[in-house]
Amino acid sequence: CGIVGYAGGMTACGKPLEVCMQGLGRLEYRGYDSAGVALAAPGMNLVAVRKKAGRLDNLKADLKRSPLPDATVGIGHTRWATNGEPSDTNAHPHVSADGKIAIIHNGIIENASQLKMDLQSEGYVFSSGTDTEVAAKLLGKVANTIIEETGKPDLFEALRRVARMLTGAFTILAVDCRQPDIVVGARHDSPLVVGLGKGENFLGSDVAAFVAYTKQAMEIGQDQAVCISGDQVIVTDFNGNPVKDSKRFTVDWD
Ligand code: GLU
Repeated sequence: CGIVGYAGGMTACGKPLEVCMQGLGRLEYRGYDSAGVALAAPGMNLVAVRKKAGRLDNLKADLKRSPLPDATVGIGHTRWATNGEPSDTNAHPHVSADGKIAIIHNGIIENASQLKMDLQSEGYVFSSGTDTEVAAKLLGKVANTIIEETGKPDLFEALRRVARMLTGAFTILAVDCRQPDIVVGARHDSPLVVGLGKGENFLGSDVAAFVAYTKQAMEIGQDQAVCISGDQVIVTDFNGNPVKDSKRFTVDWD
Protein backbone atom coordinates (compact mmCIF):
# COMPACT_ATOMS: atom_id res chain seq x y z
CA CYS A 1 0.00 0.00 0.00
CA GLY A 2 2.61 2.58 1.10
CA ILE A 3 6.26 2.29 0.08
CA VAL A 4 9.40 4.17 1.10
CA GLY A 5 13.07 3.56 0.35
CA TYR A 6 16.28 5.35 1.34
CA ALA A 7 19.95 5.20 0.31
CA GLY A 8 22.28 7.49 2.22
CA GLY A 9 25.85 6.57 1.46
CA MET A 10 28.18 4.76 3.82
CA THR A 11 27.71 7.09 6.83
CA ALA A 12 23.93 7.03 7.04
CA CYS A 13 23.71 5.34 10.52
CA GLY A 14 20.24 5.92 11.96
CA LYS A 15 18.90 7.83 8.97
CA PRO A 16 17.50 4.93 6.87
CA LEU A 17 15.22 3.85 9.72
CA GLU A 18 14.30 7.45 10.57
CA VAL A 19 13.34 8.17 6.93
CA CYS A 20 11.36 4.94 6.60
CA MET A 21 9.36 5.54 9.79
CA GLN A 22 8.79 9.22 8.90
CA GLY A 23 7.64 8.24 5.41
CA LEU A 24 5.35 5.49 6.66
CA GLY A 25 3.76 8.00 9.03
CA ARG A 26 3.07 10.31 6.11
CA LEU A 27 1.65 7.41 4.08
CA GLU A 28 -0.78 6.34 6.85
CA TYR A 29 -3.54 8.31 5.13
CA ARG A 30 -3.74 5.56 2.49
CA GLY A 31 -5.00 3.07 5.09
CA TYR A 32 -3.12 -0.12 6.06
CA ASP A 33 -3.26 -3.18 8.31
CA SER A 34 0.45 -3.85 9.03
CA ALA A 35 3.84 -2.19 8.72
CA GLY A 36 7.47 -3.20 8.47
CA VAL A 37 11.03 -2.17 7.63
CA ALA A 38 14.24 -3.79 6.38
CA LEU A 39 17.77 -2.39 6.72
CA ALA A 40 21.16 -3.32 5.29
CA ALA A 41 24.69 -2.17 6.14
CA PRO A 42 28.24 -3.31 5.37
CA GLY A 43 29.17 -6.32 7.47
CA MET A 44 25.61 -7.63 7.86
CA ASN A 45 25.28 -11.30 7.03
CA LEU A 46 21.48 -11.07 6.75
CA VAL A 47 19.12 -8.17 6.14
CA ALA A 48 17.60 -6.80 9.36
CA VAL A 49 13.79 -7.03 9.23
CA ARG A 50 11.08 -5.96 11.65
CA LYS A 51 7.34 -6.10 10.93
CA LYS A 52 4.09 -5.97 12.88
CA ALA A 53 0.38 -6.27 12.20
CA GLY A 54 -1.71 -3.29 13.28
CA ARG A 55 -0.84 0.35 13.75
CA LEU A 56 2.54 1.87 13.00
CA ASP A 57 2.76 2.45 16.77
CA ASN A 58 3.03 -1.34 17.27
CA LEU A 59 6.10 -1.38 15.05
CA LYS A 60 7.52 1.71 16.81
CA ALA A 61 7.05 0.08 20.24
CA ASP A 62 8.71 -3.09 19.03
CA LEU A 63 11.68 -1.15 17.63
CA LYS A 64 11.99 0.67 20.95
CA ARG A 65 12.02 -2.61 22.91
CA SER A 66 14.71 -4.05 20.66
CA PRO A 67 16.39 -1.51 18.34
CA LEU A 68 17.68 -2.40 14.88
CA PRO A 69 21.37 -1.79 14.09
CA ASP A 70 22.62 1.27 12.18
CA ALA A 71 22.34 0.96 8.42
CA THR A 72 23.18 2.52 5.06
CA VAL A 73 19.97 1.64 3.18
CA GLY A 74 16.40 0.92 4.20
CA ILE A 75 12.91 0.11 2.91
CA GLY A 76 9.56 0.50 4.67
CA HIS A 77 6.03 -0.69 3.89
CA THR A 78 2.46 -0.29 5.07
CA ARG A 79 0.39 -3.24 3.88
CA TRP A 80 -3.20 -3.40 2.71
CA ALA A 81 -3.70 -7.18 2.54
CA THR A 82 -4.91 -8.70 -0.72
CA ASN A 83 -3.38 -12.20 -0.54
CA GLY A 84 -3.20 -13.64 3.00
CA GLU A 85 -4.84 -12.19 6.12
CA PRO A 86 -3.30 -9.30 8.08
CA SER A 87 -0.69 -10.80 10.45
CA ASP A 88 2.92 -10.32 11.58
CA THR A 89 4.03 -13.13 9.23
CA ASN A 90 2.18 -11.80 6.20
CA ALA A 91 3.38 -8.22 6.78
CA HIS A 92 6.17 -6.96 4.53
CA PRO A 93 9.18 -7.02 4.08
CA HIS A 94 9.50 -10.63 2.89
CA VAL A 95 12.92 -12.23 2.60
CA SER A 96 14.77 -14.57 0.24
CA ALA A 97 15.44 -18.18 1.33
CA ASP A 98 18.96 -17.25 2.46
CA GLY A 99 17.77 -14.12 4.30
CA LYS A 100 20.13 -11.86 2.36
CA ILE A 101 17.47 -9.98 0.38
CA ALA A 102 14.29 -8.25 1.60
CA ILE A 103 11.50 -6.90 -0.58
CA ILE A 104 8.35 -4.82 -0.19
CA HIS A 105 5.52 -4.82 -2.70
CA ASN A 106 2.39 -2.90 -3.61
CA GLY A 107 -0.19 -4.52 -5.86
CA ILE A 108 -1.14 -8.10 -6.74
CA ILE A 109 1.06 -10.62 -8.56
CA GLU A 110 -1.39 -12.58 -10.72
CA ASN A 111 0.87 -15.53 -11.53
CA ALA A 112 2.06 -15.99 -7.93
CA SER A 113 0.45 -19.42 -7.40
CA GLN A 114 2.07 -20.89 -10.53
CA LEU A 115 5.48 -19.43 -9.60
CA LYS A 116 5.02 -20.69 -6.04
CA MET A 117 4.33 -24.25 -7.21
CA ASP A 118 7.43 -24.16 -9.41
CA LEU A 119 9.58 -22.94 -6.50
CA GLN A 120 8.03 -25.49 -4.10
CA SER A 121 8.89 -28.29 -6.53
CA GLU A 122 12.51 -27.07 -6.31
CA GLY A 123 12.36 -27.31 -2.52
CA TYR A 124 11.56 -23.70 -1.58
CA VAL A 125 9.55 -23.39 1.64
CA PHE A 126 7.04 -20.59 2.23
CA SER A 127 6.09 -19.11 5.58
CA SER A 128 3.40 -16.62 4.51
CA GLY A 129 0.22 -16.65 2.45
CA THR A 130 1.28 -13.68 0.33
CA ASP A 131 1.99 -13.24 -3.36
CA THR A 132 4.90 -11.01 -2.26
CA GLU A 133 6.87 -13.84 -0.63
CA VAL A 134 6.86 -15.61 -4.01
CA ALA A 135 8.63 -12.61 -5.55
CA ALA A 136 11.07 -12.55 -2.60
CA LYS A 137 12.03 -16.22 -2.99
CA LEU A 138 12.29 -15.84 -6.77
CA LEU A 139 14.49 -12.74 -6.45
CA GLY A 140 16.79 -14.60 -4.06
CA LYS A 141 17.08 -17.47 -6.50
CA VAL A 142 17.80 -15.22 -9.50
CA ALA A 143 20.29 -13.11 -7.51
CA ASN A 144 22.24 -16.24 -6.56
CA THR A 145 22.18 -17.46 -10.18
CA ILE A 146 23.79 -14.15 -11.23
CA ILE A 147 26.49 -14.57 -8.55
CA GLU A 148 27.19 -18.08 -9.87
CA GLU A 149 27.33 -16.77 -13.45
CA THR A 150 29.45 -13.66 -12.92
CA GLY A 151 31.10 -14.05 -9.52
CA LYS A 152 29.50 -10.90 -8.13
CA PRO A 153 26.08 -9.76 -6.90
CA ASP A 154 23.85 -7.60 -9.13
CA LEU A 155 20.54 -6.95 -7.38
CA PHE A 156 19.45 -4.42 -10.03
CA GLU A 157 19.78 -7.00 -12.84
CA ALA A 158 18.15 -9.68 -10.64
CA LEU A 159 15.10 -7.49 -10.03
CA ARG A 160 14.77 -6.71 -13.76
CA ARG A 161 14.81 -10.44 -14.54
CA VAL A 162 12.15 -11.08 -11.88
CA ALA A 163 10.03 -8.16 -13.12
CA ARG A 164 9.97 -9.80 -16.57
CA MET A 165 8.63 -13.00 -14.99
CA LEU A 166 5.76 -11.41 -13.04
CA THR A 167 2.24 -10.63 -14.26
CA GLY A 168 -0.26 -8.37 -12.51
CA ALA A 169 0.39 -5.07 -10.76
CA PHE A 170 3.50 -4.31 -8.77
CA THR A 171 5.79 -1.75 -7.32
CA ILE A 172 8.66 -3.68 -5.72
CA LEU A 173 11.65 -2.37 -3.76
CA ALA A 174 14.53 -4.58 -2.64
CA VAL A 175 17.70 -4.41 -0.54
CA ASP A 176 20.53 -6.97 -0.34
CA CYS A 177 23.06 -7.15 2.54
CA ARG A 178 25.77 -8.01 -0.06
CA GLN A 179 25.17 -4.60 -1.74
CA PRO A 180 24.36 -2.33 1.20
CA ASP A 181 24.85 0.86 -0.84
CA ILE A 182 21.76 0.51 -3.08
CA VAL A 183 17.98 0.21 -3.09
CA VAL A 184 16.43 -1.10 -6.31
CA GLY A 185 12.86 -0.79 -7.55
CA ALA A 186 10.63 -1.82 -10.44
CA ARG A 187 7.07 -0.99 -11.38
CA HIS A 188 4.21 -2.18 -13.57
CA ASP A 189 0.70 -0.69 -13.23
CA SER A 190 1.54 0.73 -9.79
CA PRO A 191 3.34 4.03 -9.06
CA LEU A 192 6.96 4.71 -8.02
CA VAL A 193 8.62 8.11 -7.53
CA VAL A 194 12.25 9.04 -6.78
CA GLY A 195 13.16 11.81 -4.33
CA LEU A 196 16.46 13.49 -5.21
CA GLY A 197 18.58 14.62 -2.26
CA LYS A 198 22.19 15.71 -1.66
CA GLY A 199 24.29 12.67 -0.87
CA GLU A 200 21.06 10.74 -0.34
CA ASN A 201 18.17 9.56 -2.50
CA PHE A 202 14.66 8.33 -1.80
CA LEU A 203 11.94 6.15 -3.30
CA GLY A 204 8.22 6.33 -2.59
CA SER A 205 4.85 5.09 -3.77
CA ASP A 206 4.04 8.80 -3.75
CA VAL A 207 5.91 11.98 -2.83
CA ALA A 208 4.48 11.97 0.71
CA ALA A 209 7.05 9.24 1.44
CA PHE A 210 9.97 11.71 1.25
CA VAL A 211 8.56 15.25 1.07
CA ALA A 212 9.92 16.01 4.57
CA TYR A 213 13.45 15.63 3.14
CA THR A 214 13.37 16.82 -0.48
CA LYS A 215 11.01 18.55 -2.90
CA GLN A 216 12.95 17.41 -5.99
CA ALA A 217 11.29 14.37 -7.54
CA MET A 218 11.40 12.15 -10.61
CA GLU A 219 8.76 9.80 -12.00
CA ILE A 220 9.56 6.19 -12.81
CA GLY A 221 7.67 5.19 -15.96
CA GLN A 222 5.65 2.07 -16.72
CA ASP A 223 7.85 -1.07 -16.93
CA GLN A 224 10.94 0.73 -15.67
CA ALA A 225 13.45 -0.17 -12.97
CA VAL A 226 15.54 2.13 -10.79
CA CYS A 227 18.66 1.82 -8.66
CA ILE A 228 19.45 4.49 -6.08
CA SER A 229 22.60 4.98 -4.02
CA GLY A 230 23.65 8.01 -1.96
CA ASP A 231 25.00 9.80 -5.02
CA GLN A 232 23.39 8.15 -8.06
CA VAL A 233 20.00 7.37 -9.61
CA ILE A 234 19.98 4.96 -12.56
CA VAL A 235 16.78 4.21 -14.51
CA THR A 236 16.41 1.46 -17.12
CA ASP A 237 13.68 -0.56 -18.78
CA PHE A 238 13.21 -4.20 -17.71
CA ASN A 239 15.81 -5.27 -20.30
CA GLY A 240 18.47 -2.97 -18.89
CA ASN A 241 18.34 -0.30 -21.60
CA PRO A 242 19.04 3.13 -20.06
CA VAL A 243 16.11 5.57 -19.71
CA LYS A 244 17.28 9.17 -20.12
CA ASP A 245 14.01 11.13 -20.28
CA SER A 246 12.55 10.54 -16.81
CA LYS A 247 10.19 13.39 -15.92
CA ARG A 248 11.50 15.62 -13.11
CA PHE A 249 9.26 17.88 -11.05
CA THR A 250 9.28 19.97 -7.88
CA VAL A 251 6.79 19.10 -5.15
CA ASP A 252 4.88 22.29 -4.30
CA TRP A 253 3.45 21.26 -0.91
CA ASP A 254 4.69 19.95 2.40
N1 GLU B 1 -0.54 -8.30 -2.45
C1 GLU B 1 0.35 -7.93 -1.39
C2 GLU B 1 -0.10 -8.51 -0.06
O1 GLU B 1 -1.22 -8.90 0.10
C3 GLU B 1 0.57 -6.41 -1.30
C4 GLU B 1 -0.61 -5.65 -0.77
C5 GLU B 1 -0.36 -4.13 -0.74
O2 GLU B 1 -0.37 -3.49 -1.82
O3 GLU B 1 -0.17 -3.57 0.36
O4 GLU B 1 0.70 -8.62 0.83
